[in-house]
Amino acid sequence: MSKTIIVSNRLPVNITIEQDKVYYKESIGGLATGLKSFHEDGNTLWVGWDGLDCEDVPENLKMPIYNELQSQYNCIPVELSSDDINDYYLGFCNKTIWPLFHYFQNTTVFDPHLWNAYKQVNNKFFEEIKKIIKKNDTIWIHDYQLFLLPELLRNHDSTLTIGFFLHIPFPSYELFRQLPWREEILWGLTGSDLIGFHTFDYARHFISSIRRVLSLDAKGQSFYHKDRTVLVDVFPMGIDYKKFNTAINEKDILHANNEYAMKTRGNQVVLSVDRLDYTKGIPERIKAVDLFFTENSDYLEKVSFIMIVAPSRSDVDTYNMLLKEIEELVSHTNGKHGTIGWTPIMFFYKPFPFEELVSLYNLADVLLVTPLRDGMNLVAKEYIASRPDKLGTLILSETAGAATELGEALIVNPNDLQMISHQLKVALEMPKREQIERNSILHKRLERYNIFFWASEFMRKLRSIHLRQTSIKSILLKDQEEINFIKAYKSAEKRLIFFDYDGTLVMFNNSPSKAVPDLELKQILTKLTEDPKNIISIVSGRQKEFLEEHFNSFNVNLIANHGLSFKEQNKEWIETEIVHNDWQKEIRPIIQMFTDNTPGSFIEEKTFSLAWHYRRCDPDLSSLRLNDLRETLLDLTRTMNLTIMDGNKVLEVKDSSVNKGKGIQSMLIHHTDVPFVLAVGDDHTDEDMFHILSEKDYSIKIGTGKTEARFHLPDPSSFRALLNKIIE
Ligand code: UDP
Repeated sequence: MSKTIIVSNRLPVNITIEQDKVYYKESIGGLATGLKSFHEDGNTLWVGWDGLDCEDVPENLKMPIYNELQSQYNCIPVELSSDDINDYYLGFCNKTIWPLFHYFQNTTVFDPHLWNAYKQVNNKFFEEIKKIIKKNDTIWIHDYQLFLLPELLRNHDSTLTIGFFLHIPFPSYELFRQLPWREEILWGLTGSDLIGFHTFDYARHFISSIRRVLSLDAKGQSFYHKDRTVLVDVFPMGIDYKKFNTAINEKDILHANNEYAMKTRGNQVVLSVDRLDYTKGIPERIKAVDLFFTENSDYLEKVSFIMIVAPSRSDVDTYNMLLKEIEELVSHTNGKHGTIGWTPIMFFYKPFPFEELVSLYNLADVLLVTPLRDGMNLVAKEYIASRPDKLGTLILSETAGAATELGEALIVNPNDLQMISHQLKVALEMPKREQIERNSILHKRLERYNIFFWASEFMRKLRSIHLRQTSIKSILLKDQEEINFIKAYKSAEKRLIFFDYDGTLVMFNNSPSKAVPDLELKQILTKLTEDPKNIISIVSGRQKEFLEEHFNSFNVNLIANHGLSFKEQNKEWIETEIVHNDWQKEIRPIIQMFTDNTPGSFIEEKTFSLAWHYRRCDPDLSSLRLNDLRETLLDLTRTMNLTIMDGNKVLEVKDSSVNKGKGIQSMLIHHTDVPFVLAVGDDHTDEDMFHILSEKDYSIKIGTGKTEARFHLPDPSSFRALLNKIIE
C-alpha cells in the first residue's frame, strides 16, 4: 500500500535535552495543525530536522530519540551538524533565499560556499527519504529550504507523486534572475507534479521564471517537463478557524482579556504581532504611529499601541541590528509623546502563547499589520477569526499575501506612512455597524477556506494530477519497454527508419544554422548506416541544401521541406508534389510586420514554406504576438490551400499538400515486407509520420504533449542514449 510522506525543514515536534533527559513537545503551528488529519491516520510519515545539532547529542541518546520520534510521532529525523545549521539554514536559507524572495536584494548574500551547503543538506534529506519510500508513494515537500528535493526524488523514482508548497513569496523574474543558482533551483522544482503558492502573483512570477530562465514552454498554469505535466496552482493557506473563533469562551482567556482591558484603562487599543524580521516593516510602522500622534493630538492618552515582537533568528546579525533599531524608535516615540500616566507604545520582545494572543486579539480595536513583504500573514486571519462579535478593524499591507483574500480590510502601502496614519484614524473611528459588515464577509471566507480545507485541497489536486500523468496514452520508453524495443530492433532482418532532425537528433539552437550534427551524432549515424539491415531517412522541415551539406557522406535518404523533396544517396533530388509558392508574396509582408514588432524573431524563407522563429524572443511578448499572427494568418489563408503549423518555437506556413506523412509514404509502399519500421520526431509536423504508421510499427515522440506516437522519450539526449544502446 502506498503512503504519504510530508517533508519540511523542521519536524512538528520540538526536542530539548536537559541533563541527558529528552523532552518532546508537539508543535502547534499552522502547518502541523493543518496536516494533522493526514499525519495522524497512521499511514503518513513526516521527515524533517529535529532542531538539534547532531554533534551535541550524546551518542547514547541518538537511537532512543530516533525510535521515539518514529514510534510516537511518525516522524523521521534528518540529522544536521553545526556546519549544516550555519551554512544551510542560517546561511543559504536565511541570508540568500529569504531576503531575495522578500525583495531585500541589497542584503542578499551570494556565496558559493553556502550554496554548496544547501545542496548537501537537500541531499541529506533525499538520502533519508530514499530509505523509506516505495514505488507510487506520495510526497508533499514544504518550503524554500528544500527546493532541490523534488528533482532528486523524481530522478530516483518516476512513479512518485510529488507536491511542493512554497510558504513565502516567489519574487518577480527581475529579482529571481539575480540568483547565480537560479537554474538549479528551478530544475529542482520541476521534479514536482504540483507546485502550490499562496497567491496568483507568486504563481505568475514562478511561471514567468520557468519560461525565461529554463526556456520551458509554460502555458497558463502548467508546463511540460520531461514526460510529465507540472501543474502550478494557488492555495492560500488558512487557519484553524474554529479554534480561534471559540477560544474567547474559555474562562481563563476571558479573564486575561478583562485584565488587559483594565491595564489599558479603557483606551482604544491598536495591536501588532510579528516575528522579529526585517520583512515585517516594524520600524516603518512605529514611524507611522509617531506620525499619527503628531497629526492627531486629540488621540494622545486615548490610544494604547501594544506591539508584540516574538524573538526569531537571533543568530543572524541583521536581526540583532533590527531589534536595536526598533527599541530606539519605540523609545523615541514614547519619549516624544508619552506622559507620566501613559505610554503610547507598549513594546514586548517575547513570544506570547495562544491564550494571551487571543485575549489581546479580542481587546484590540485595530490590528495593524504592515509587512513590507509577507508570503501570507496568518496573524491578520487569526485576528478576524478570534472575534465572534465580528468587531475590530484590520489594517493590512497590500504586500502581504493575505491582502488578496481579505479585501474588506483597510489596505495600505506599508511604505506610505501618511496613508497608515490616516487609515489608523479611519479605523479608530469606524462605526460598529461597518466593522461587522466588513468582518462578516471575511469570517465566511476564513471559516470555509480553513487550514484543513487548504491541506485537503492541495492533496486532492495532487492526487488528481497524478491520475492525469498516468493516463497519458503514449508510454515512456524505459525499463521493460526499452528492453522489448531493443530486442525487436536486434531481431529484425530489415529495418526502415525515419528520423526527424531538429529536436530529435540534435537539441535546438537559437540560430537554426548552428544546430549542426556533432561528433557523437556522426558516430552514431555511421554505425547505424554501416549496418546493411538499416534503411535510414532523415525527414526534416529543413531545406535541401542544409541536409545535403551535413548528411551527404552518410548512406541515408534525405527528405527535405517537410516531405516535399526526396533524395537517395548519390542521386538527384526529386519533388514528390507539384506545388507553387506564389502565395508567399502575399503572406511574407504580414510575417515581416510581426518580425519588425517582435525583437529577436526572424523569418526563415524556404522554397515552399515560410517559418517565423521566435526562440530568442521575450517569451511573454512572443506568446502575445504568436496568437495575433496565427489569427491573422488563419483569416488570410482561409481560401488558400495552406497549413499553419506550430512547431517548436516556430510558426510555419506551408502548402497543405505537403507533409511528412506523405513524404515517407512512398518509402513505406516500397518496403511493405520490412518487419521493423520506426519513426522518431518531436513536434506537430512529425505527427503526420506517426499517423500513417501501422499499429505494430514503432513511433517515438521526443518531448511531451499530445501525440499519436506509441512511445515517448523526454529529450534528444535520452534518445541518443537509446541509439547508443542499439548500436552497441
Ligand atoms: N505567534 C505566536 N506568538 C507570538 C507571535 C506570533 O504564537 O508572540 C504566532 C501567530 O499566532 C501566528 C504565527 O506566529 O500563527 C506567525 O505567523 P505569520 O504568518 O503571521 O508570520 P511568520 O512568522 O510566519 O512570518
